[in-house]
Amino acid sequence: MVKTPIYFDHAATTPLCKEALEKMTPYFSEIFGNPNSQHVFGRESVKAVDEARDTIAKIINCKPNELYFTSGGTESDNWAFRGIAEAYSNKGKHLIISPLEHAAMLSTAKALVKEGFEVDYMKVDSEGFIDLEHLKTLIRPDTIFIGCMLANNEVGTIEPIKEMAKIAKEHGIISFTDAVQAAGVIKTDVKELGVDLMSMSSHKIYGPKGCGALYVRNGIKINNLINGGHQERMKRGGTTNVPAIVGFAEAFKIAEREREENFKYVSALRDKFINRVINEVPYVKLNGPRENRLPANADFSFEYIEGESILFSLDLAGIAVSSGSACSSGSLEPSHVLLALGLPEALAHGSIRFSFGKHNTEEEIDYAVDVLRDSVKKLREMSPLFKVEGEIKYV
Ligand code: PLP
Repeated sequence: MVKTPIYFDHAATTPLCKEALEKMTPYFSEIFGNPNSQHVFGRESVKAVDEARDTIAKIINCKPNELYFTSGGTESDNWAFRGIAEAYSNKGKHLIISPLEHAAMLSTAKALVKEGFEVDYMKVDSEGFIDLEHLKTLIRPDTIFIGCMLANNEVGTIEPIKEMAKIAKEHGIISFTDAVQAAGVIKTDVKELGVDLMSMSSHKIYGPKGCGALYVRNGIKINNLINGGHQERMKRGGTTNVPAIVGFAEAFKIAEREREENFKYVSALRDKFINRVINEVPYVKLNGPRENRLPANADFSFEYIEGESILFSLDLAGIAVSSGSACSSGSLEPSHVLLALGLPEALAHGSIRFSFGKHNTEEEIDYAVDVLRDSVKKLREMSPLFKVEGEIKYV
């Protein structure tokens, strides 16, 4: 018998790894100094933060002074987008992003429009890849920012960021990528990607919540988002969260060390899951591509039923998944990502994201597919819509 509950929601967050917890623990008690303090207690904390910065800088191939710690992906995204828009507004007020971005970017876009900026959205194809030819047509003399996530949190599409950054560079435009779902999972070398700014978050890679980082290439001007003291070289105020930063660096180091092995293991679980679901559950659609996709992610739309009802049935059977993105679940809005991929509203409502992790097993995958197949069948039998349209087709 498989042990429940089973966690298939790693794109929402991951459990803190033992090594990160152990590394963080002393910084909650014995080594508690404020890194801003000019005494031995402060110096010990400074040392820990410097080491963490060096570790992450090495992984993403930047200089330590190009890395700023933040409270997470949301803050990094807000800071990158708004900080660049404000710093370069004399040059222009035109910004380009993708329609698939996280709410942290999309809501900042809305706020910037209210403040007099113009935002255009790159077209994406039915698998979620940005259309680079369309991007070129959007560029104007007053474009100052081009941004897109490196990997999508709902459908898992890995975007051609290197090519996007190259186009931006050719036009003298600043490029940004949100690597919250990608860092520690695929290679995130900023020199190779060619981006000027990159967001990261700790809790997606078995690190603590409430911590992240923003890479800002030296030479790029950026306005502050949070004003305060002298922290982060006067670019991000607020007393430094030393334990979280130490835990983030440790988790990132482990994720990077295990990256290829985890990629192989988790994508094999995911492929088994996808293949079984496609073969055993009728009227399903896999969202996103089969190739160039995050290893952990499988997002399905189920015809004739709401994603929420599937989520509740799975939850009752001890399987934790999410409907749409973690951030829009709880709302009954269809997924903005699936709508951008061209899915009709009904299918965008009926989607479930399964996201696997390094502790999941094949046994759990088999159990989940069995439960999913039976739950979907039962829910469809109760669905008035299915009775009218689907009955004859169901096998
Ligand atoms: N960007 C992406 C692509 C995400 O998936 C998330 C979280 O789900 C965020 C940003 C926000 O990150 P955080 O939870 O660290 O604020």
